[in-house]
Amino acid sequence: MRKETQCVHSGTHNDESTGGVNTPIYTSTAFEYVDRDALQYPRYFNTPNQNSVVAKLCALESAVDGVLFSSGMAAISTSILAFAAKGDHVVLLDSLYGGTHALATSVFDRWGIEYSFVATEADAVAAAIRPNTKVIVIESPTNPLLEVLDIRAVADIAGLHGIKTIIDNTFATPINQTPLVMGINIVVHSGTKYIGGHSDICCGAALAGSVEDASKIRALAGHLGGSLNATTCYLIERSLKTLSLRVERQSANAMHLATWLGEQAGVDRVNYPGLADAPGHAIAAGQMQAFGGMLSFELAAGIAPREFLARLEIICPALSLGGVESTICASAETSHAKLSPEERERVGIRDSLLRLSVGIEHFQDLARDLQRGFGN
Ligand code: PLP
Repeated sequence: MRKETQCVHSGTHNDESTGGVNTPIYTSTAFEYVDRDALQYPRYFNTPNQNSVVAKLCALESAVDGVLFSSGMAAISTSILAFAAKGDHVVLLDSLYGGTHALATSVFDRWGIEYSFVATEADAVAAAIRPNTKVIVIESPTNPLLEVLDIRAVADIAGLHGIKTIIDNTFATPINQTPLVMGINIVVHSGTKYIGGHSDICCGAALAGSVEDASKIRALAGHLGGSLNATTCYLIERSLKTLSLRVERQSANAMHLATWLGEQAGVDRVNYPGLADAPGHAIAAGQMQAFGGMLSFELAAGIAPREFLARLEIICPALSLGGVESTICASAETSHAKLSPEERERVGIRDSLLRLSVGIEHFQDLARDLQRGFGN
């Protein structure tokens, strides 16, 4: 089946009692166990609604098994800790989502886990590997500069050393990028973004290329908790039915807007891997179907970001991303506010940088709104 069809049909739990076409919401937290293969319980991550969502996500990510969580950070932290313990070393991109960055800097020391942050380059990842490296955590494209990492190269290097690879595929989505097919071991998502897609669900997922890896994550997840209720699972399953439609439109809109922004006098620079002159374009073209709905741009000198945002009428200044509605934020005062001005300068995040999550509205209405932002 192609992804469009998987979005609609994979994982649906057939309701034989009524013939209904949707998975029913099974609210039970207690399940009869005599004569059944497995004990079912919400915190064992194996109830019918959890299973349906996981089956759909596994189909989309070419995974064999996975675990659905109550947030993206629950999926990320549990996946890393399933493979790294006291005395082990973890390599992470320094451009990872801020929450993952903070997980390492805030708690790894306390747990005796060593870590290194590296640039978004396969060579830098390779150079950071130590004898005790157990996990490599990557992301591509990155937030908010949309840098691209050669995923196959990292998977190959890690494979040679027997190191587990985890990729945060939130920005790309399984519609545009399937890292397990490129040799990555575990894909994690903040489902709060594109998977939910309507800015009204908080969830996460870890999808694995092997039963053993998924089992390790599920076992630790059972200890840590952080599972999802049936109604939220149902809403995620419903959202996923339109994932490919949404992401295709968002990617097409972002391509239009990136090109359009590049022609505006009020813009100094546009970051979007779909642009032919983007530094990561060739690699992105070899590992993505389309280039996604996220882009960022730098306002020219003299345009104050706060004033630009205040003039917008359609695009909402908001922290999250991946919804059907376009949202925008100044990274320096939101996702990267905790970094010092010097650190932000070092990683290339200027006060004038705006990150745009492109929605499914008509691209011309969005361009008109951005024009308002420039004061035109
Ligand atoms: N990964 C990425 C790329 C994100 O943008 C976020 C949240 O913004 C997360 C992970 C964390 O997800 P959650 O907020 O669902 O825990």
